[in-house]
Amino acid sequence: MDRSEMIERVRAQMPERRWVHTAGVMETSIELAKRFGADPVKAEIAAILHDVAKYWKVEDQARVLAESGEAGDLFDYDPQLWHAPVAAYIAARDFGVRDPEVLDAIRWHTSGRAGMSTLEKVVCLADYIEPGRDFPGVDRIRDEAGRNLNRALLLGLDSTISFLLAKGRPIYPLTVEARNDLIRLLDKEADNA
Ligand code: GDP
Ligand code: FE
Ligand code: FE
Repeated sequence: MDRSEMIERVRAQMPERRWVHTAGVMETSIELAKRFGADPVKAEIAAILHDVAKYWKVEDQARVLAESGEAGDLFDYDPQLWHAPVAAYIAARDFGVRDPEVLDAIRWHTSGRAGMSTLEKVVCLADYIEPGRDFPGVDRIRDEAGRNLNRALLLGLDSTISFLLAKGRPIYPLTVEARNDLIRLLDKEADNA
């Protein structure tokens, strides 16, 4: 499917404000991909599709998640986490995306995971800092995103984890693993400096 058809189909599945967010993630993903050495074309495709299922009814997300065979333990956690693997499945099934790197960038954009690729990090970080985002600490993450991908993404995950802690909510284990992994990588960078 070509880029403009993909955009039109995604846009039709969400409210206008979520489309504006998606367009922001597209722009920021391309910029971060160029800065940190990921493929900007792949980054943009992942960005276009990353939230395609975000405004589906939760029952529809659950049905597709079960059908995908990749639910893992996600049914035990916040339904907010489901739209990412659902989007990866839909990207392959309905949008003809075959590139596993793009599908993984979509799949892991919410939870993160240990051992994220540069493309996965770029899309996950762009989701935090696209121009329309406004939450406490976002400017510090934007600032760090000008220099260090791992440190910027760590700040993003920290903000999500702090938010969930403050609300007394569970934290999905892969988010904690993603954070720990980034800290290990940053410690290694410091040792090699
Ligand atoms: P969005 O889809 O552009 O709004 O951004 P995300 O895909 O990052 O959505 C993340 C949502 O999932 C946020 O509202 C988080 O607070 C929520 N969430 C709930 N539990 C978790 C968790 O354990 N880890 C992460 N990363 N997010 C979680
Ligand atoms: Fe999302
Ligand atoms: Fe998003």
